[in-house]
Amino acid sequence: MDEDAIRLRCVSRRYGSGDGVVTALDRVSLAFPGGTFTAVMGPSGSGKSTLLQCAAGLDRPTSGSVTVGGTELTTLGETGLTLLRRERVGFVFQAFNLLPSLTAEQNVVLPLRLGGRRPAKARVREVLDQVGLGDRARHRPGELSGGQQQRVALARALITRPEVLFADEPTGALDSRTGREVLKLLRGMVDAEGRTVVMVTHDPVAASYADRVVFLVDGRVEGELTGAGAEGIAARMTRLEAVPC
Ligand code: ADP
Repeated sequence: MDEDAIRLRCVSRRYGSGDGVVTALDRVSLAFPGGTFTAVMGPSGSGKSTLLQCAAGLDRPTSGSVTVGGTELTTLGETGLTLLRRERVGFVFQAFNLLPSLTAEQNVVLPLRLGGRRPAKARVREVLDQVGLGDRARHRPGELSGGQQQRVALARALITRPEVLFADEPTGALDSRTGREVLKLLRGMVDAEGRTVVMVTHDPVAASYADRVVFLVDGRVEGELTGAGAEGIAARMTRLEAVPC
């Protein structure tokens, strides 16, 4: 058993070709140990989203290796990658990405239905309770606040009991109070259930909920901080953004 939930080895991702080539990730090697919460930070365009997408099997690196729970993603075919995304990893996005015509519980069971599985009512209730929305199961996204919608998205990501939960700016569209509620839920999933969370954020306060912050600049890992507070993280970000080209 691999004790790293995710491992990237010398991962590069280039877009385009010839003079127009953009190197979004440049030989990135990183391990995300199981049961830990990692934040990924860096200036705009530094490769954070690309890193998350490659680690989660949403995008394919140009070169290098990505393993999730010991499974090598770069050799998986499309069907294998689809199954991995459906069964073994969960996603939360800044924009929630809920289907507006479906109720909270219908949104939550979608990953199971897509996999042809019948959702157990007790499990749906369990994940909605876990995110504090047991009493909103029949509400549609338009009838819920932003924070509640993001919690529905979290419940949807958790329904398959994923090995890793990826979150791309999960608090970006929320005010700071509701953002904190979502961050506490993510923290609780790591502490109480031993899940692995990898979160992209530009917010030092959000990053301070993580065990570790990894900094990217120009597609490369520029260092990391462990157990840092929001002020220490903000100071490091300021220094990174001041680096001349
Ligand atoms: P971040 O999330 O840190 O803002 P991204 O991972 O989105 O950075 O992007 C990293 C770099 O790759 C940027 O220069 C961006 O313009 C480029 N990039 C990202 N996606 C594409 C794409 N589909 N085609 C071309 N370039 C892209």
